[in-house]
Amino acid sequence: MNEPLVGRMREFGTTVFAEMTALAVRTGSINLGQGFPDTDGPSPMLERAVEAIRGGLNQYPPGPGLPELRQAVAEHRKEHYGLVYDPDGEILVTLGATEALAASVLALCESGDEVIVFEPYYDSYAAAISLAGAVRRPVTLRPVEGRFTFDPDELRAAVGPRTRAVLVNSPHNPTGTVFTRDELSAIAAVCAEHDLVAISDEVYEHLTFDGVEHIPLATLPGMRERTVMISSAGKTFSVTGWKTGWICAPAELVRAVQTVKQFLTFTANGPWQLAVAYGLREELGWVAGLRDSLATKRDRLMAGLSAAGFAVYRPAGTYFVQTDIRPLGFTDGLDLARRLPELAGVVAIPTQVFYDRPELGRHFVRFAFCKKDEIIDEAVARLSRLQGKPADSDL
Ligand SMILES: *Cc1c(COP(=O)(O)O)cnc(C)c1O
Repeated sequence: MNEPLVGRMREFGTTVFAEMTALAVRTGSINLGQGFPDTDGPSPMLERAVEAIRGGLNQYPPGPGLPELRQAVAEHRKEHYGLVYDPDGEILVTLGATEALAASVLALCESGDEVIVFEPYYDSYAAAISLAGAVRRPVTLRPVEGRFTFDPDELRAAVGPRTRAVLVNSPHNPTGTVFTRDELSAIAAVCAEHDLVAISDEVYEHLTFDGVEHIPLATLPGMRERTVMISSAGKTFSVTGWKTGWICAPAELVRAVQTVKQFLTFTANGPWQLAVAYGLREELGWVAGLRDSLATKRDRLMAGLSAAGFAVYRPAGTYFVQTDIRPLGFTDGLDLARRLPELAGVVAIPTQVFYDRPELGRHFVRFAFCKKDEIIDEAVARLSRLQGKPADSDL
């Protein structure tokens, strides 16, 4: 048979996460690659899911999501951000943020439309845009004074006559940047001027550090009416396997996204929805504890990576640290990531795979710190052996 995969998906082979996780398993390495926590979410919330199953919530929930969860989301938006969304019509529950993103792009972008993305970007963005037959227009985040940011001129220059949407992610994976009000205003101005939709991935909304505040794009003047705001329980409550997410948007946009979503998965899983509704109401204290513990883990990993010889960028949010490998004598992150198990018994993610132009991120490697302290300590102890190892340029 000829290559069975459709042409528009051929550039997306196995994801680097799958490759690196398989490498970690095969070599018995510590996996600081894929960003999943190694401890569970709040146990009363887990219990709610079990109870829901035992209690018989095992058939199709309503298409937009269980009313309990939509109501809890509406209350949470109002309380935290002062954003009012009608649980009947302006909130849609999805199978994680991944489905929310794909359904949004598929619903809102015609074939040939352009979507602006900030690179390095979360890997599913590029695939969702390709599935829609749309075209991505990257705007690059570059380190300025220790923090990744974009040049507003570059953003403005990326807009063309076919631009339909801007895909925004703050707090940003993989750089850890939390967009400031100024940065968000620059995005909002471009959206208003060119009548663009903003698809805003805010799955790390609760995971910001050092008192840095997450500002939802929809709270900026004129943005609520044109923003699809995406959240997920996975990162907030350390239940990445639950795949429960939601969008909040004006009814017209929600209707469009739901039209696609109903034929991707029809509805999202019932028991988890009920448990997440409970989590949003009762477990935000637990989330605050998670945030504090992650801040400490971030400092622990950063200190260890610096001592091991990496140049380290301090993330204001998410659970990833971005490093520059050049001080260690290495130049290619993909090459280093593939050799890291053998050199140090650790697995990380080469950031270059998140770029349209990989050369711009060639020397960056991402490490996750949502891991037990003893795992982080062991990983940095192992990484300290890197100094003095033959670098790629010496091979
Ligand atoms: C983890 C992650 C997602 C996916 O969230 P799910 O709810 O697991 O589908 C989306 N965007 C970013 C930036 C992520 O890090």
